Parts: sequence; structure tokens; C-alpha cells
Amino acid sequence: MPPVNRKNPVRAETSESEYSLMEFMREYPDDDACLQALWRKRYAPDGEHAHCPMCDANRSFKRYETTQQRQSWTCTACGHHLHPTADTIFHKSSTSLHLWFYTMYLMASTRCGISAKQVEREIGCTYKTAWRMTHLIRKELMKQANDPMSGTIEADETYGR
Ligand SMILES: [Zn+2]
Repeated sequence: MPPVNRKNPVRAETSESEYSLMEFMREYPDDDACLQALWRKRYAPDGEHAHCPMCDANRSFKRYETTQQRQSWTCTACGHHLHPTADTIFHKSSTSLHLWFYTMYLMASTRCGISAKQVEREIGCTYKTAWRMTHLIRKELMKQANDPMSGTIEADETYGR
């Protein structure tokens, strides 16, 4: 058995490989996992407590399932909604979060970059959508970071809340 990296138990210490597709799929298996990741990264590190701008206090938030495609979390004290995708390039996009994350993964794992044409084939969207996504990811998420997965956090600082 090769020694296991403590920080990243999926990857062996000796492995030189990049973040693999298997690791990506384990971390972000579906839309919900991506939404949860945004919620935790942007608002609630523990998944439950976040700063409510209405109460101006740290509150417990609950998620009410609705028929809405993009779900939000609700302040249990005042009912204010927080949308994890608000002010991000993912907001109100007709492309699923999972496909956005997968495209970011593709762009991060191909050092020489990936063309909109390749993205179109990979995720099965129109060329126009693929072009728009790769353009936004490059423009908004990759300007400061080589890794767009960490770029989602850095971009938040640019956007504010
Ligand atoms: Zn509140």
C-alpha cells in the first residue's frame, strides 16, 4: 500500500498526477453537491450557520426544498433567503451547476487549455453556450488562479456579497 496523503486521502503521496476525473466526480457527483460546495465556500463553512444581512448576525439557516431549480437557504430567524449562486457567473444560467463545474475541471486539467468546440462535444451543449462558459470562466475565475476550483472563492472577493 502506498502512503496516503492526509490532506487528500484519495491520492497517494507518491502520485504526481493532477486532480483526476475520479476525484472530481467523488467531490462533485451532481448539481446538489456543487450547490452545497458554493454554499459552504461563500456563506456557511459548517453548512448551517451564516451571516444574515437582515438580522446582521450569525444565524442558523435551513434549506427548504422548492420546485425552483436553483435552491436557496433561509434564515430561521427572519426568513431572508441566501442564494449560493448570487453574483456569480453561474447565477440564472440555464446550464446546470454540475456542467459548469465539469467545464471548470476540464479547463483546469488541460494545461494548454480547452477549446469551446471541445467543451461543446464533452458536455453536449450548443457551441454558443460552450463559448460563453469558457469565456466567463477564463475572464472571471482564471484571472487570478490557475485552478478555477479555487478561483470560485477568489472571484467572490471581487464580486463582494
Ligand atoms: Zn435573518
